[in-house]
Amino acid sequence: MRIAFLGLGAIGRPMAVRVAALHPTVAWNRTSERAAEFARQTGARLAETPRDAAADADIVITCLPTSAEVESLLEGPDGLLAGLRKGVLLVDCTSGDPASSRRIAARLATAGIAFVDAPVSGGTNGAEAGTLTVMVGGTEADYERAKPVLAAFGKTIVHMGPVGAGHAMKSVNNALLAVNILAVAEGMTALVKAGVPARTALEVLNVSSGRSFVSENLVPERVLTGTFPNTFRLALLHKDAGIAAQLLRDTGVEGPVHDLAHRLFGEARKVLGEDADYLEAIRITEQQAGVEIRG
Ligand code: NDP
Repeated sequence: MRIAFLGLGAIGRPMAVRVAALHPTVAWNRTSERAAEFARQTGARLAETPRDAAADADIVITCLPTSAEVESLLEGPDGLLAGLRKGVLLVDCTSGDPASSRRIAARLATAGIAFVDAPVSGGTNGAEAGTLTVMVGGTEADYERAKPVLAAFGKTIVHMGPVGAGHAMKSVNNALLAVNILAVAEGMTALVKAGVPARTALEVLNVSSGRSFVSENLVPERVLTGTFPNTFRLALLHKDAGIAAQLLRDTGVEGPVHDLAHRLFGEARKVLGEDADYLEAIRITEQQAGVEIRG
């Protein structure tokens, strides 16, 4: 199985490393030095353009910030569509949006190319370890075709429904993550201000009913220690919260909590910029309160 991998960012790169260890792989990245470094490390072939990357591939994987970048990569004389052969499967691991995915799938179908959306969860550590959760939208046959390749970096690979269903699932997961981050930041900051040591508050929370992935994993590893590593851009979580808020509107579900999380992450994005890590949102609450959740 010959794979083309496009998008060697924070999560794309470790995913691609695992793919290249198992399959003949050609890589393309907008910043070509990153692709060159990846090729040196893995032995993958370097492609000059998306068209060149697609030329010999059986399966093409994209992992870009949003569906808009995936759509723009398709077009033009050096675009993917110029290189893709009939019968190829495009697997989009971007956390994209369902409406764009359906549009992309329809566009590709006219050229005889299949499409699944296959966003991932589990972070950059999960990508390195090959333990990501992969949420797939597409036909049953295309899901079965994508699964052996997705297994290079995914441990739990689930068929969610038709094209777009993977992106819908991923957006709700990340919106819930966003809500949790904001709520944990507010509650923990108040406890610290009330005189409860942060570590003690967290220990009790994590054996009680308010615990979450944020309180059990992210706060102990990254906030209490004050390390805040850059693994997932806050701008991307803001984008995910927006996709989920739109999903609620499209399905006629009132979503004040989702809307608020989207708005607050938008404000954090304006203050902190495009390269800030998502957990930096907690620092905004800390700064407003004049205390830090450390210990
Ligand atoms: P990054 O911002 O680290 O990387 C983005 C990648 O897209 C880079 O390879 C970048 O190229 C490329 N890119 C950006 N703009 C364009 C463009 N206009 N044309 C072509 N290529 C472009 O993002 P991540 O790797 O973190 O995320 C990728 C996707 O995975 C996102 O949808 C994100 O929401 C999702 N995700 C991320 C997780 C994480 O922990 N980081 C976890 C789960 C999902 P260049 O090198 O030139 O900048």
